[in-house]
Amino acid sequence: MSQADFLPFALPEIGEEEIAEVVDTLRSGWVTTGPKARRFEQDFVQFLGDDSLQAIAVNSATAGLHLALEAIGIGPGDEVITTTHTFTATAEVVRYMGADVVLVDIDPATLNIDPKAIEAAITPKTKAIMPVHYAGLSVDMDGVMAIARKHGLKVVEDAAHALPTTFKQQTIGTLQSDVTVFSFYANKTITTGEGGMLVTRDEAIAARCKVMRLHGISRDAFDRFTAKVPSWYYEIVAPGFKYNLTDIAAALGLHQLRRVRGFQVRREQIAQRYDEAFADLPIIAPPRPENAGDLHAWHLYVVRLSDAAQINRDQLIDSLFADGIGVSVHYIPLHLHPYWKDRYKLQPEQFPHSQRAYERMVSLPLYTKMTDADVERVVTSVRKAFGAL
Ligand SMILES: *Cc1c(COP(=O)(O)O)cnc(C)c1O
Repeated sequence: MSQADFLPFALPEIGEEEIAEVVDTLRSGWVTTGPKARRFEQDFVQFLGDDSLQAIAVNSATAGLHLALEAIGIGPGDEVITTTHTFTATAEVVRYMGADVVLVDIDPATLNIDPKAIEAAITPKTKAIMPVHYAGLSVDMDGVMAIARKHGLKVVEDAAHALPTTFKQQTIGTLQSDVTVFSFYANKTITTGEGGMLVTRDEAIAARCKVMRLHGISRDAFDRFTAKVPSWYYEIVAPGFKYNLTDIAAALGLHQLRRVRGFQVRREQIAQRYDEAFADLPIIAPPRPENAGDLHAWHLYVVRLSDAAQINRDQLIDSLFADGIGVSVHYIPLHLHPYWKDRYKLQPEQFPHSQRAYERMVSLPLYTKMTDADVERVVTSVRKAFGAL
C-alpha cells in the first residue's frame, strides 16, 4: 500500500477564501492580534445569536479553560469535578491553578459525564464542574446546572467538540453556565491551526480573561495602538499569560465560521451512512441527542463493540490499519494515565462505564473532506473486519 492510499483519520478543510484571507493578513503588516481577531470575536457572538455574550479569542482551548478557571477564582484547596473520559487538557488546567481534579464516571448511554456521579463526588471543597460535550453530543446540561445551583458551584463547559451543538434547541455557548470554551485545533470541527474561543455573559469574568490573556495588561494590543488616547500607555495589573490569538489564525477562523453549518450537515450525513451500514453488525452505534430536534456536532464517530462481537477492539483497529484506514481511540481515560492514576490513586473499578467503553471503542474517520467513496471504503473495511462483506 502506497502512502497515497492511506485514508487519514482526520483532515482540515481549508478553502481558497481562508488562504486569500491569510495572505491578505500577511500583506497587511498586522500579523498578531488585531482587527481580524476582533472581527472573529464579533462574528462568533453573531453566530451564537446572543448579544449579551462576549467572545474572547485565545490561542488554544486549553488556554481558554485556564483563563476561565483563573477568572472564577479556582485555587489551592479547591476541587473541580470533571469526566475521566476526556482529553487531559480538560483536567490539567485545574492543576495549573493548584487545585485538585475529581474525576467521575460517564453515563454509558451517552458517554458524557453522569450527573449522578457528579453529585456523589461533591465535597465541601468542590468549587466547579467542567462538563465535556463528548464527540459533539451535548451533556445533560439541565442535570448539571441543577446540581451547580443546589450546591453553589461554577460551571465551565469544555465545548472543544461542540461546534455547533444544541441542547434543547439552545446552542452550546448560550446556556446558563459561567464560561464555555471552544477549540479550533487542527482536527476539530472548524480550525485555525491552533486556537480557541472563550464565551461568557459575565462582565467581570470577561474583563479578567481579557487582561490575563495578554500579560495582565489592562488594554490589549489592538486598543493600545488604535485608541485615541494615549497610545503608549498601559498598566500591568497581574502576572498574566500569553494566550492571544494572532490575526493570521483569526483569518482562517473568519471563513471557517461561515462554513460551520455546512460542515455539520456533511458530518451528519457521514454519521447517518455509518449508522445504516453497520446496523446489522455487533456494534453499538454512537448515541444520538435525546431530543430529536437537537444538533450533534459529530466531531467524532465512536463505535463500541457489543458483547456479540467475535473480534476485539485491537483486532478491529489492526484490520482497519491494514486496509490503510486511520482510526483512533477517544480516549484512553485519564484514570489510566500515570500522572492522574498516581496522583489520585485511581483504579479502573472506580470508573466501570468509562473503562468498559474504552476497552471496546474505536473512532472512525469522519470529516468533511471525505468523499462518498472514502466513506464506502471505511464501510467496506469495517464490514470485512467482522467477516460481513
Ligand atoms: C482538543 C481538546 C481540548 C484542547 O483544545 P486545544 O485547542 O488543542 O487546546 C480540550 N478538551 C477536549 C475535550 C479536546 O478534545
